[in-house]
Amino acid sequence: MEPWILKKRSRCYNCDQLVDHIIEIYPNQVFIRCSNCKVTRCYVIKTLYIDRMNTLEEEMDKKYLYDNWLLEGEYRCSNCKEYTTHDILITVAGVYVRCRNCKFTRYYRFYVIFKEE
Ligand SMILES: [Zn+2]
Ligand SMILES: [Zn+2]
Repeated sequence: MEPWILKKRSRCYNCDQLVDHIIEIYPNQVFIRCSNCKVTRCYVIKTLYIDRMNTLEEEMDKKYLYDNWLLEGEYRCSNCKEYTTHDILITVAGVYVRCRNCKFTRYYRFYVIFKEE
């Protein structure tokens, strides 16, 4: 399956440059790669659920060592099958991808950091 690809301009915690980060979202994994130094954070799928409790909003307000990123994109939802806006929250601890139509949410937990050669 083709990943969903997004970009976010932010200061890299590794090379300390203000550069684009490439975000690739697959059904089972998410990769976030600095376009400058290529350091990559990998997250793996942990749970799928319907977000009736606004966990995404709660998580967004938590303070971590680095800023949380809130992004959005138009994609076909694997649950309701509609082409809808998805809210995408990225923290150092996890990634949340939620359909605005049916609230179907994928939660990916932080797994590892690696650097491509
Ligand atoms: Zn970097
Ligand atoms: Zn949906």
